[in-house]
Amino acid sequence: MFPFTFTAAASEADAFAAGAAGARYIAGGTTLVDLMRETVERPESLVDINLLPYREIRVDTRGLVVGALVRMSDLAAHPLVRSQFPVISQALELSASGQIRNMASIGGNLMQRPRCVYFRDVASPCNRRDPGSGCGAREGVNRTHAILGASRDCVATHPSDLAVALVALDAQIVLRSQSGDRRVPAARFFRQPGTTPQVEHDLRSGELIRAVEVPAGPHTARSGYLKVRDRQSYEFALTSAAVALDLRGGVVRDARVAAGGVATVPWRLPAVEHALLGRAPSARVWEDAAARAADGAEPLSGNRFKVELLKRTVARQLSVIGGRS
Ligand SMILES: Cc1cc2nc3c(=O)[nH]c(=O)nc-3n(C[C@H](O)[C@H](O)[C@H](O)COP(=O)(O)OP(=O)(O)OC[C@H]3O[C@@H](n4cnc5c(N)ncnc54)[C@H](O)[C@@H]3O)c2cc1C
Repeated sequence: MFPFTFTAAASEADAFAAGAAGARYIAGGTTLVDLMRETVERPESLVDINLLPYREIRVDTRGLVVGALVRMSDLAAHPLVRSQFPVISQALELSASGQIRNMASIGGNLMQRPRCVYFRDVASPCNRRDPGSGCGAREGVNRTHAILGASRDCVATHPSDLAVALVALDAQIVLRSQSGDRRVPAARFFRQPGTTPQVEHDLRSGELIRAVEVPAGPHTARSGYLKVRDRQSYEFALTSAAVALDLRGGVVRDARVAAGGVATVPWRLPAVEHALLGRAPSARVWEDAAARAADGAEPLSGNRFKVELLKRTVARQLSVIGGRS
């Protein structure tokens, strides 16, 4: 470990002042402390933001509002989230472990960094951790890496399950700074690596995630999350699918589908959604639509299997959600 200072912000003004002076925010600490122990991250000062009033969970006819400091377990267990936004509950419950979910915040979950072994090993080259040093994974061990949205400089997948559900549901991330709030669609918040993989999101220096807003619609209650992984718990996704369907009148009126574990950011699947619109539910319809899930995929030496696995994950989840009475 290395020396750093630790203070607690009693107010937003305290937090912004510390942020402006270069301090890093810490919420549950479940991922930042790991990264500091591994010296992947070396902040000189930390500011604890847990006293800020970002703990609200509100569900009404307009949708769901979640404060950034709500714990993953609390959001997952909320009865109205379970019934009205099951894809969010399920994505959270399939994440990490019970102990981690009790500590980990929603804001921290969205800000977590890649699980790529080359990123987390300071002895390896990694353009995200050390821009210009190279990508160990592209020609190395890359079984768990991205088949979509990658670049020459980075092939790490985005690790958050919650983020996949939020992108599928067109959520907005509410960001607060001294100048007030701004809202960014979840789909635009996460950045593909391109030639600047060290830029992972749209958060500006000193800004805080204050909340997440998820609009309600006829599709939100008929939704769910399927995660495929090497072991049944405490593991990141090889592939995952967040699906939400509006099936009024016996046809698919609206479809929201996003994939995780396969791309450098949570990956919306517009071709799959388009293939579903206006169709009557059937096994054939789900399979035909899911056949588009891996459009544009560029597998690496070790992860060609993800192309077929992604299609099957999406087909399976479409049939589960579409078949529910
Ligand atoms: C063993 C293990 C397994 C895991 N498995 C999964 C999994 O399967 N799926 C999954 O999705 N996640 C998984 N995770 C990640 C876990 O969900 C995150 O560690 C957790 O959500 C981070 O939240 P935190 O509050 O502890 O963040 P912290 O560690 O406190 O902070 C993380 C980052 O977020 C920033 N930050 C925190 N809050 C804010 C805010 N409000 N505004 C701006 N910046 C902020 C911090 O500055 C820091 O950079 C796993 C973690 C571990 C350790």
